[in-house]
Amino acid sequence: MNDQTGPPRLTRDQLSELLLADEQQRRAPDTAVPLPDCFLCGRPATGMSSTLGCRDVDERVVTLRPCGHRLAFNVGVAERMQAKMGAAAGPASAPSEVGVLRAEVAAARRFAGEMREFCSPHGVSVHYADQLEAAMDRAKEGAA
Ligand SMILES: [Zn+2]
Repeated sequence: MNDQTGPPRLTRDQLSELLLADEQQRRAPDTAVPLPDCFLCGRPATGMSSTLGCRDVDERVVTLRPCGHRLAFNVGVAERMQAKMGAAAGPASAPSEVGVLRAEVAAARRFAGEMREFCSPHGVSVHYADQLEAAMDRAKEGAA
């Protein structure tokens, strides 16, 4: 039997503060808000890790660094909070696939432009540059 009382529970506000800071640090470590101070001793937290709790299957225990204080929370509550945060952050913060593709296309067109200037017998490079641009135009029209 395990009758230890376990670490104290985070309140909803404390949990959401922790999750928000953690989420931001994962998305944008340079601009993220710092983790909140430890709710037990007030020392600034520089990191945290979470492990399974032992009171029930949904309990997780977060250990704050450097003070090492442990606080428990319910993983179901945390997941609902994270889902809300994800929705609030919106798709703008997700890696932009369109942006990456645009950059790739721009680079290819730039290369086609440079290829025209290449010195080549019988204007072969101009011919290939035209072919490349024509192929890209066809693909663009096909996709539209
Ligand atoms: Zn502490």
